[in-house]
Amino acid sequence: MTGEATLLDATSIARELRTVFAARAAEVDATASFPEENLADLRRAGLLGLLVPATAGGIGADLATVSAVAGELAAGCLSTALVWAMHTQQVDAVVRFGSPSLREVLLPRVAEGAYLASVTTEHGKGGHLLSSDAALSHSADDVEIVRDAPVVTGGRHADGFLVTMRDSPGANQQETTLVYANREQLELSATSGWDTLGMRGTASGGLKLRGSVPKSHVIGAPGRFREVALDSMIPLGHIGWASCWLGTARGALAALVGHVRSPRRSKDLDPRSPLVAERLARIRTDLEIVSAYLHRVVDEVTRARADGTPLGTSAQIHLNTLKVVAAEHTYRAVDRMVQLAGLGLGYRRDSAVPLERHLRDLRSASLNYSDDRLLVATGTLTLADSDVRLA
Ligand SMILES: Cc1cc2nc3c(=O)[nH]c(=O)nc-3n(C[C@H](O)[C@H](O)[C@H](O)COP(=O)(O)OP(=O)(O)OC[C@H]3O[C@@H](n4cnc5c(N)ncnc54)[C@H](O)[C@@H]3O)c2cc1C
Repeated sequence: MTGEATLLDATSIARELRTVFAARAAEVDATASFPEENLADLRRAGLLGLLVPATAGGIGADLATVSAVAGELAAGCLSTALVWAMHTQQVDAVVRFGSPSLREVLLPRVAEGAYLASVTTEHGKGGHLLSSDAALSHSADDVEIVRDAPVVTGGRHADGFLVTMRDSPGANQQETTLVYANREQLELSATSGWDTLGMRGTASGGLKLRGSVPKSHVIGAPGRFREVALDSMIPLGHIGWASCWLGTARGALAALVGHVRSPRRSKDLDPRSPLVAERLARIRTDLEIVSAYLHRVVDEVTRARADGTPLGTSAQIHLNTLKVVAAEHTYRAVDRMVQLAGLGLGYRRDSAVPLERHLRDLRSASLNYSDDRLLVATGTLTLADSDVRLA
């Protein structure tokens, strides 16, 4: 799939897949199983290569399309959408920071459907993105990876991994390097399962990774993962997650509104009731705020990329704010939908509108890169942005 027509079609393809994924979502959640069929559909549709340049066989889409596709997929199945969004985040890092030889080999594989997983979390340092404990060992041509990874979304199904590690045994924790490994270059052993409150279809269990890769697999400058993170991983991560969470909450509201408008609605959900209207307005307000801020941040990052300018302090604040606001408001919106829908429609697992699954899934949003960590970072950055350049 290449060319402009494909780019224009990406969001409508995602809209079609949304219905298919929605039909499978309850089973994926109930069995906590990786949505392999959904990944195969994404692969067939060319969506794993959405960010791969057309010259390498991909779609070469922009960030607005990434956000729109994530939103559509998440309205069907949030686990699948998150798997896809995190893969897309890895692809962006390879596109922007991979060595020419790595890009030449890996990007066509991604366009054909290779799925890339992310390894940043570590037992000792927890979620902190910009540091690492385990160190790479260097030989003349290769780097050796030995890494314990407690949370790897879709790790057992991945074709490749982007891994953060301390650059060498003598480096400090901040001298972190991002390195790519093909699945065949690693010995993998599972260390934990994934039986969680929500996001049960992401199969994010722990893995031990061990193997060697050529030095050309280092992504960005050795020891300077921070540059890759600020330019690529954080923007794509926060935009992708926010788009997914908003897509789920938006899809839930659409289903709820459909129910309120239907003659089959329960008598408590009378659309002429001012209480129902006020509650709908609060939910809508939550989603409007996230949507407006998401679009604003997508525009800001897109403009910076087009101009070739780095994302400065205020842009980093906006990206962190996006993640926290989206996590809080989408969860609150679905919580409010449960309250409005009541016990039968809102709380039961067998409800026609799966609000209880959405609520469990969205509870992960403030944990999936801890809001606390981001707020501490934003507070520090605020002191450095004395002009207070708001989004
Ligand atoms: C659905 C899902 C998928 C994921 N997929 C992946 C994946 O594919 N790859 C991967 O590597 N990781 C993945 N993660 C892990 C994720 O990126 C975070 O690392 C993880 O959610 C953080 O877990 P934590 O709360 O235990 O750890 P931490 O972030 O270490 O936080 C622990 C607690 O300490 C507090 N805390 C710690 N330090 C600070 C600080 N400096 N300031 C303020 N508060 C602090 C936080 O409030 C938090 O409550 C995933 C997580 C989820 C939920």
